[in-house]
Amino acid sequence: MESSILPAIIRLRASANSFLSQFEPLLLVVAPLITFLVAQIVQSFIQVVHEKGFKATLIGFIMTWVKLVPGVKSYIDAEKQKVVDKLQSSGKSSRDGWRTELPSSGLGNRVLEQMKNEKEKDAAWQGKCSGTVYIGGNESEGHFSLINEACSMFAHTNPLHLDVFKSVVRFEAEVVAMTAALLGSKEKASGGQICGNMTSGGTESILLAVKSSRDYMKASKSITCPEMIIPESAHSAYDKAAQYFKIKLWRVPVNKEFQADVKAIKKYINKNTILIVGSAPGFPHGIIDPIEELGELALSYRICLHVDLCLGGFVLPFARKLGYPIPPFDFSVQGVTSISADVHKYGLAPKGTSIVLYRNHEIRKHQFVAVTEWSGGLYVSPTIAGSRPGSLIAGAWAAMLSLGQEGYLEHTREIMEASKRLQNGVKQIPELFVIGRPDMTIVAFGSNVIDIFEVNDLLSSKGWHLNPLQRPNSIHICVTLQHVPIVDDFLKDLKDSVQIVKQNPGPISGGLAPIYGAAGKIPDRGMVNELLVDYMDNAC
Ligand SMILES: *Cc1c(COP(=O)(O)O)cnc(C)c1O
Repeated sequence: MESSILPAIIRLRASANSFLSQFEPLLLVVAPLITFLVAQIVQSFIQVVHEKGFKATLIGFIMTWVKLVPGVKSYIDAEKQKVVDKLQSSGKSSRDGWRTELPSSGLGNRVLEQMKNEKEKDAAWQGKCSGTVYIGGNESEGHFSLINEACSMFAHTNPLHLDVFKSVVRFEAEVVAMTAALLGSKEKASGGQICGNMTSGGTESILLAVKSSRDYMKASKSITCPEMIIPESAHSAYDKAAQYFKIKLWRVPVNKEFQADVKAIKKYINKNTILIVGSAPGFPHGIIDPIEELGELALSYRICLHVDLCLGGFVLPFARKLGYPIPPFDFSVQGVTSISADVHKYGLAPKGTSIVLYRNHEIRKHQFVAVTEWSGGLYVSPTIAGSRPGSLIAGAWAAMLSLGQEGYLEHTREIMEASKRLQNGVKQIPELFVIGRPDMTIVAFGSNVIDIFEVNDLLSSKGWHLNPLQRPNSIHICVTLQHVPIVDDFLKDLKDSVQIVKQNPGPISGGLAPIYGAAGKIPDRGMVNELLVDYMDNAC
């Protein structure tokens, strides 16, 4: 057999060769082109694997092909819609009766009556929500009414018009300066150049810090394909910044203490790196990253370091004064180039207020947008918004001045103590474990023996609103002045819920627990991404 096949193959190859030889000149041109193309494809494949990891790439690849099988895509879409509906039904009321057009004749003052009715439909958040409302006490009195009055007094002002509304321009400068003074501007190490602006919230502060870092690094190091490296625990605002500003984002796992893993971050630094990030503390577990080590790393590579003090900005400076062990976190650390601090969280200002700070004017200049060729005239604006609400600036100023150092110190002591009590209470529930060692007022906890998301659902049915977290599955409560009087109530409800879940293994509450549980485990992250987008698309 073989002997007859072999010559046949040889003859076949010979005739193929003579056939192909006609095209030799063409092959000479095409071959390098094909080689180049293949190299390109291989390179971009390697890049995707490097960015997403081998598993995610493989799953993405498989899912793309699986969906081509007739019926599979529509099946997946139908299943996805079920999940979206489920998320919707527990979060959103039905839209029956919602207005879709202006009333032909105005309601006049009656709108206020309608608004009161609508407000009553909101969930009872008083003392019950993780974070959310940071001011203590009753909404109709005390610090709440002071803020309301300050805001309404300046409701029609706009700092865009510097020459008209001198009052709010001054308020803004003072809010920024007072915040900077809390975060190290008065210390020698800072060089006395700290500057910044008020923004609409932590996200805008982070967006701006990233944008400024990108353009500063372009100017000073000619980096044109920017990359930034963040710990897994850093806020999602960096993802937003990466998408908006075309920056490649590396998200690096945290270490065993749930802090930024500086050694791991270092491995990702290359010639395109513009920025590394630390949080003080991070949103998920309330743990402060090693800012000094990150500072050293940033200095040695001459790159930017942003410290996210959105939660800590108006707590840590006071906690340190009160004697709590707080590692360095602000501009006193060399290498820190920018900071975000939310005055609308623990600063007890109205919602829509935050501060972004820079080590010097050189960096901040890259935040501004100047336009010289507009027929509307010469234009320059410091932050993302053009017109801005002077009322919020006035509200923040009122919050800070009305409280003063003593007010913040007193509040910090109260929430730090409440958090310790809460943490100790959680530790005494044997089924639960606290994640890492919380540095401030956020306590995250999970369980190795029961489904923590079922516990969360039961807590929700008792009116509590906590944040579900993943990696590991857990929930957290961000303790505010609202919680100080009700820590024991919370611990009692938590203990009861844990017992109920323990005695009834399997889904019991009919809430979102199975979805959270599944969403964490689904290997196809692209699918989870689509789910979130569909959910948002339905919700607003
Ligand atoms: C809240 C928060 C942010 C984002 O702030 P927004 O005001 O919601 O935009 C960023 N980082 C941390 C650590 C936060 O807690």
